[in-house]
Amino acid sequence: MSGSFKIFEYRNIPVFVHWTFSLLLLWVVGLGFMNNMALAEIAFGLGIILCLFVCVTLHEFGHALAGLRYGVPTQDIILSPIGGVARMNRIPEKPVQELIIALAGPMVNVIIVIVLLPLYFLLGGERLSMEEALNAYSEFNQPLLALIILNIFLIIFNMIPAFPMDGGRVLRSLLSFKFSRVKATLIAVRIGQFFAVLFAILAFYSNGIFLAVIAVFVFMAAQQEYKSVKVQDGLANALMGEIALKNYKTLAGSDTIGQAIQLAPFNQAPLFVVTNETEQLMGILEKAVLQKLQSEAFTDQSILPYVRSGFLVVNERDNLKNVLARFSEKNVYILVVNEQEVVVGYLDIPFINEYIKSL
Ligand SMILES: [Zn+2]
Repeated sequence: MSGSFKIFEYRNIPVFVHWTFSLLLLWVVGLGFMNNMALAEIAFGLGIILCLFVCVTLHEFGHALAGLRYGVPTQDIILSPIGGVARMNRIPEKPVQELIIALAGPMVNVIIVIVLLPLYFLLGGERLSMEEALNAYSEFNQPLLALIILNIFLIIFNMIPAFPMDGGRVLRSLLSFKFSRVKATLIAVRIGQFFAVLFAILAFYSNGIFLAVIAVFVFMAAQQEYKSVKVQDGLANALMGEIALKNYKTLAGSDTIGQAIQLAPFNQAPLFVVTNETEQLMGILEKAVLQKLQSEAFTDQSILPYVRSGFLVVNERDNLKNVLARFSEKNVYILVVNEQEVVVGYLDIPFINEYIKSL
């Protein structure tokens, strides 16, 4: 993510902090000065925010380490003023794994509370009612209480059953025990959007700008999640034999450039498939290459020196999701073959892009 700086790395998971995080700290300092707070109080506020973000980082590592256990690597952890994100490359296949990974984050905050609570009482902290606690947590002399309440807030906030919060993932994984992943996601997304609308109504009546921002954010994140799961599902269901383009012409390895040029107007594809006598694939001849050979001098020459490889060959029963995982920059085309290794179609990048857009 641009504008982020790496602060450390653990178990090959780099932790980045986004530059806007410094704005949050500046805001705390500015607010302190505007309210004529003492320097020590401002420092306290900064300290609490830093401790809170240590808790957020530990929370994200809860997800990341649980993911590692199930072979789902975390690309990185990014901390920004609105919280942390552990970016995982994929959703684990089994619902129970997604459930554990989603719960592992909030569990870390539960553990932090369990550790800090006895410490708070040990250091002479008083037993407080809910109302007293909520009023006291911002008090200058109560850092432990502040952290305990902030962690409880993190647990509650994260367990709201709406994407992108952990609660949304918990809900989806539970629904996945009964429904397909797409169906489970759609139900979870609609429930999440219901909460978003609820937040918006609450925000309207309480003039809560923060709540309004969350409502919009949650509503959009839910839609995004559904789209991404639908695309993943669409890719997994797209069989190469069914979606491959078949508008190409075939040349024999013994053909001449002149013959290829004659056939070119009838070939809608950007390539010719070149095969031997037994229909086995020898390579491809690109139309763009052929165009450069349009002079008399080449007419009787063999096409073979211009036939090239550098494409990915896949089976007609492969799905697009697996194929894309194997596709690399050096492959311009994907050739689809049947069980007899005979070419039955091809795909190129513009087609794949259009196909993904249509999902
Ligand atoms: Zn989380």
